[in-house]
Amino acid sequence: MNHTIYLDNAATTPVSKEVLDAMIPYYCEEYGNPSSIFYSVGSKAHEALANARAKVAASLGCEPAEVFFTSCGTEADNWAIKGTALKFAKLGKKHLITSCIEHHAVLHSMKALEKEGFEVTYLPVDSDGFVSVRDVQNAIRPETALVTIMFANNEIGTLEPIEEIARVCHEKGVWFHTDAVQAVGSVPIDFKKLGVDMLSLSAHKFNGPKGVGALICRRGIMPLNFMDGGAQERGRRAGTENLAGIVGLATALDLAVRNLDKKIADERAMRDYVLKEIQAMPKVKINGPLDLNKRLPNNITASFEAAEGESLLLMLDMKGICASSGSACASGSLDPSHVLLAIGLPHEIAHCSLRISFGIQNTMEDAKAVCTALKEIVATVRERSPLWHP
Ligand code: PLP
Repeated sequence: MNHTIYLDNAATTPVSKEVLDAMIPYYCEEYGNPSSIFYSVGSKAHEALANARAKVAASLGCEPAEVFFTSCGTEADNWAIKGTALKFAKLGKKHLITSCIEHHAVLHSMKALEKEGFEVTYLPVDSDGFVSVRDVQNAIRPETALVTIMFANNEIGTLEPIEEIARVCHEKGVWFHTDAVQAVGSVPIDFKKLGVDMLSLSAHKFNGPKGVGALICRRGIMPLNFMDGGAQERGRRAGTENLAGIVGLATALDLAVRNLDKKIADERAMRDYVLKEIQAMPKVKINGPLDLNKRLPNNITASFEAAEGESLLLMLDMKGICASSGSACASGSLDPSHVLLAIGLPHEIAHCSLRISFGIQNTMEDAKAVCTALKEIVATVRERSPLWHP
């Protein structure tokens, strides 16, 4: 094998050629500041920003005025959560609700708020990673300021019942935010139909550039400002816009949404092939829903008894295959993933987990190659393990 097979598209994706081509003029030619509207270089930049906003709105079924660009998905999550918490704290509402399988952008925001005197309810999930709508309903109190539940889990691919949760929150008059960083560009999303109040997204998950994201805020819903300064983003998010990045985000999202049916069909075919092959191996547990319509089309996470995830990753890498043993942000830590523990996996099984996530550059050949490699590698690692009892 003499080329890299990149199967870690949940961590990040390569920037598409069309996206890069659309971005490049905004570095050296159309370099104006979008706020400098009194001369042509600036007004062209202003227009490019407006076009990008309109493209994002059209791709997600929201209004351009509901799109607020940020520096990444993490910033969008922090803004939605901390901005809402601080806004409602003034009214004596200092309770927040989330799930225990959220990304650290959400969980660590909650931890920071707890240190400031806020109370947080962390809802459990079932063995497939689903949050119960009834649990959300029961957890809401008069002093609840915000519910935030992720759209799609970054490790096990579970697609949460977002529409139902939004309905329950609105019946009780509570704002609802969803971290849709893994979902945007991977599954169809209609912001209006979904009924959520705020939604976070990040360009580098759908073949756009790193370091640019957005928070979509329904009209009339606005958390307190997270970044104070100039009047950018209608006075809500200060800081000179990363125009090339924003143009890249909008172009990537437009492409992703226009090609979504094909992308989903291709990813499902690869995912289902690999799933079948892995399921035929001895002592393997597939993590996340086995109802394949209820998980991300590109995600497979499995635990291979007595074959440590890090060993599998290193040996796959020697064969030119990139995968993940958990979320990219958690790698470097030897603690088992909080998501795998939350779905009830024992520590020793959680340590033996591998995530494969497909993207637009992958082919069925890649799916076949990873299966062949995995069968060989898992057998080798197990042979060396004192924990392996065939
Ligand atoms: N939320 C989820 C579910 C993610 O998977 C990630 C990134 O992996 C983030 C938030 C953070 O996004 P960003 O890398 O743009 O900060």
